[in-house]
Amino acid sequence: MESTILIIDDHAETIRLLSAMLRDQARVLFATNGLAGLEIARAERPQLILLDVEMKSMDGFAVCSRIMADPDLRHCPVMFVTASAGIDSEVACLDAGAVDFISKPLNGAVVQARVRTHLRLQAALASLDTLASRDGLTGLHNRRAFDAQFAQEVARHRRQRAPLGVALVDVDHFKQYNDRYGHQMGDECLRSVAHALAQCSRRPGEVVSRYGGEEFVVLLPSTNVDAVLRFGQWICAHIEALQLPHDVSTVGRNVTISVGLCSVTPGPDDTPARLLDVADKALYEAKRAGRNRSTMGVAAHGTVATLPTPC
Ligand code: GH3
Ligand code: MG
Ligand code: MG
Ligand code: MG
Repeated sequence: MESTILIIDDHAETIRLLSAMLRDQARVLFATNGLAGLEIARAERPQLILLDVEMKSMDGFAVCSRIMADPDLRHCPVMFVTASAGIDSEVACLDAGAVDFISKPLNGAVVQARVRTHLRLQAALASLDTLASRDGLTGLHNRRAFDAQFAQEVARHRRQRAPLGVALVDVDHFKQYNDRYGHQMGDECLRSVAHALAQCSRRPGEVVSRYGGEEFVVLLPSTNVDAVLRFGQWICAHIEALQLPHDVSTVGRNVTISVGLCSVTPGPDDTPARLLDVADKALYEAKRAGRNRSTMGVAAHGTVATLPTPC
């Protein structure tokens, strides 16, 4: 993927010069003042920002401190471009949170070399981030990424007083599947189920994660009880329709799933752990009631209503 560099500088000639030096290395965007630069940075999420220190309305240090205070931007490296040489100025740039600085007059080879180093570092960090948040077998988000996102979504739905849906999915009789078809086929089966669940969860904000071994979890933003129920029925039917053979299952001839559901407008006591617990109890009910079905857990009264999947 091509990198994007944002130049924020109030001097058109400097922008022109830097763009010419960098256009072979990355897509180059520019802004001529701090506010416009921040707006572009939020929209484009560049891999590197080259920031002029000496600007009229809002100087580079002020722009940098806004970047550092913004949770969406603070991971974007900032490199100051400054005319003032000297140790004090270098230290001030680094103290402000910049990863590096370049002094004017600009030297093409130096600019290119420094920028190349930081783009490489950014690419390495991005792939580490992917490795840390993805499940190796299915490519879905892993438990760690799910936990972080779930906490954010619970907080957001609490603020917005909106219902958050959760679907906890467990493959039926998967131990027998492994015993019958072998572990490698078991892995293949998990990949197919993961892929199918991802296909079923494509509304904005819906995320499927691998929660553990043969368990998956889907977050359904702004989804009320009725819609969550429909989603549960739909994914059960969808997985059964894949017709992945499972001839030692007590449920039928093919691989099936059981799903524990909940839809809660989070109150002060509704922590992520609590919502998961509701979905987990509902999942247990779905298993107990015969598998290949979804069950809605009800948080407020501690009761569950079961809803079999029509065959
Ligand atoms: P139930 O219908 O009650 O859910 O029964 P189950 O057999 O699916 O549940 P159980 O928890 O007894 O077994 C889950 C199995 O999933 C056991 C474990 O070996 C298997 N499993 C977990 N992770 C993986 C994996 O990454 N690959 C494969 N092939 N199997 C896995
Ligand atoms: Mg300037
Ligand atoms: Mg399980
Ligand atoms: Mg299972």
